[in-house]
Amino acid sequence: MAKITLENLAHSYLPNPKHEDDYALKELNHDWVDGEAYALLGSSGCGKSTLLNIISGLLHPSQGRILFNDKDVTNAPTTQRNIAQVFQFPVVYDTMTVRDNLAFPLRNRGADPSYIKDRVQQIAAMIGMEATLDHKARGLTADAKQKISLGRGMVREDVNALLFDEPLTVIDPHMKWELRTQLKSLHQEFGHTMIYVTHDQTEALTFADKVVVMYDGRVVQMGTPRELFETPEHTFVGYFIGSPGMNVLAADVQGDKAVIGGTQISLGKGFGAPQGQVEVGVRPEFASLATGDAGLPVTIKRVEDVGRHKIVRADFQGAEINILAGEGETISPDMNRVVFDTAGVNVYSNSWRVTPEVA
Ligand code: ADP
Ligand code: MG
Repeated sequence: MAKITLENLAHSYLPNPKHEDDYALKELNHDWVDGEAYALLGSSGCGKSTLLNIISGLLHPSQGRILFNDKDVTNAPTTQRNIAQVFQFPVVYDTMTVRDNLAFPLRNRGADPSYIKDRVQQIAAMIGMEATLDHKARGLTADAKQKISLGRGMVREDVNALLFDEPLTVIDPHMKWELRTQLKSLHQEFGHTMIYVTHDQTEALTFADKVVVMYDGRVVQMGTPRELFETPEHTFVGYFIGSPGMNVLAADVQGDKAVIGGTQISLGKGFGAPQGQVEVGVRPEFASLATGDAGLPVTIKRVEDVGRHKIVRADFQGAEINILAGEGETISPDMNRVVFDTAGVNVYSNSWRVTPEVA
């Protein structure tokens, strides 16, 4: 197992990159702590696979270095990096049996046959394929083949890291949950460094200790699910995580006051005088409806009952503000204001969070 360090790393698929826009992966400095389970989360095209393939050695970065336990592996081939990688779509040997597919990485490394037998059995149980161990992979469903790929990724205990690139895409929803649980327990048992790529926030938040959020070729935040919820460092993290995501409103901020669409509200703490494009971000969990004249004037458009709570969609000067209300809360038509709990208010300057002044 290893700590993985990325130093001034960047990648462009173009031969002569000039502008920042030419880079699929913008310059990045980052340590992946040995033994942690990470989720790499972001929408399609933001650079997740590019980053993973650079770590495993499938792709050589245009600039920067990769270190495993402080040893430079930038020019080391995949085989020397000792990494297991599982891709979005199955990679299996069709003419081999399930058993031989699973045993392959161990045989390749000259493991002891009796160990291989036991380990393969163990993995087959994890992926629920004990009954098909002696079937040829050819003819199995995509779902079953992907489980073999996952099993092959997990079979070696001595890898530096396990990388999963959206591995559950072709798996049916019920099995998805089960396999994710298996991966999690595998992590707890062996303590491998794991990086799990997904575009699904639920998957990321349930799997990982730390979530690394990428946006447009850049890591915009690395944090615990709670940090991503409470203090999104970039407005993208605010939108992308949560359902619905954070409300982001253009504002004029001076000290502990913000003027939003002509109405002044109190922020509860000081933010100095942020420059550039200034916005206030408030998650629906920290917004509530009120009557009277405090808060922003809104018109309720719609109330959606989603089980444990209600989502209120309100109009504020043509923009939508989402509010979470409790299941038993009464929403009356005369509620014409939205107020924010200042504990949940963040301020952004050019999309990046402004650190509040300590009182
Ligand atoms: P993700 O895995 O987050 O969906 P990728 O890392 O696959 O994103 O892609 C990041 C960007 O790099 C995208 O704009 C994609 O079109 C581009 N890209 C990916 N692979 C290649 C390639 N082999 N050649 C050129 N551009 C690529
Ligand atoms: Mg990808």
